[in-house]
Amino acid sequence: MTIASAPVPESASLIIARDLESLHAHVRDWRRQGLRIGFVPTMGNLHAGHRSLLRFAREENDISVVSIFVNPIQFGKGEDYARYPSTLDADRAALAEEGATLLFTPDLDALYPGGLKEDTRITVPALSDILCGQFRPGHFSGVATVVAKLLSAVQPDVAYFGEKDFQQVLVIQRMVADLCMPVAIRTAPVVREADGLAMSSRNVYLSAEERVQAATLYRVLSETATAIAAGAAPAPRIEAAQQTLASAGFRPEYLELRRAADLGTPTEHDGDLRLLAAAWLGAARLIDNIAVQRANAAQQEPDHA
Ligand code: AMP
Repeated sequence: MTIASAPVPESASLIIARDLESLHAHVRDWRRQGLRIGFVPTMGNLHAGHRSLLRFAREENDISVVSIFVNPIQFGKGEDYARYPSTLDADRAALAEEGATLLFTPDLDALYPGGLKEDTRITVPALSDILCGQFRPGHFSGVATVVAKLLSAVQPDVAYFGEKDFQQVLVIQRMVADLCMPVAIRTAPVVREADGLAMSSRNVYLSAEERVQAATLYRVLSETATAIAAGAAPAPRIEAAQQTLASAGFRPEYLELRRAADLGTPTEHDGDLRLLAAAWLGAARLIDNIAVQRANAAQQEPDHA
């Protein structure tokens, strides 16, 4: 799917709200009319993955709101906050084409009125220090905090998140449950390029050569997941997968098999699993994950082959 790159005038039917006041005016109006609001938070540079979330939001609600906000507090020192790809004109065109109702593009002061330093923070300790959290300290607190702000601003009935960021989904679900937030969280499958690479705004950091190599991540995850689902012992398969990635030029951060429900370490009795990975390729940090359904989980080959 292509996204227009030329600047286009704002569509008459796509409402743009740049501050909380104008957003709230619309939200109040919609609520008064009893309309159901679906919400897709993003950081922009929209691709088919974002579009798939918007389509679910449109199908299931009367109103669809998309936010574009690059959230500084979820980026660590030395990460790509300052150079995160911004394509606002193309994004606006894509949203108008998809029939979104409203685009919310707040500036920093709107979401952090007291500045970044003494801002209220939300942490979800059970899920934040493993997998990506181990390598990106503070990342999930940054995500939880901005999503809480956005949910509070937009007041959606349903918010949509991609399984591409599987750990993020669980963090948000946990936050919403723990803080008794009146919003349903829906998830959508990972949207991939033809060669299997998960779509991501960060794929633009890949050179042409790296872009070809990048598909190895999904291939390795798929092969490993298939083997484990068929009964292979996970540990040696995962070690082999990490070696394959390293030989292909990746610098893997982690490749782990976890329980899908809570990202806990699976026992041989757990059947609903997820294989998750993060690996650097050149200047791009790629993440991906895949479901692993282990039938007759307790009768698997022991994990010490
Ligand atoms: P981002 O703009 O990267 O913060 O992503 C905004 C939302 O889009 C998040 O819920 C992501 O999980 C989701 N998303 C990003 N890439 C994909 C993809 N390839 N497939 C499905 N959802 C995605």
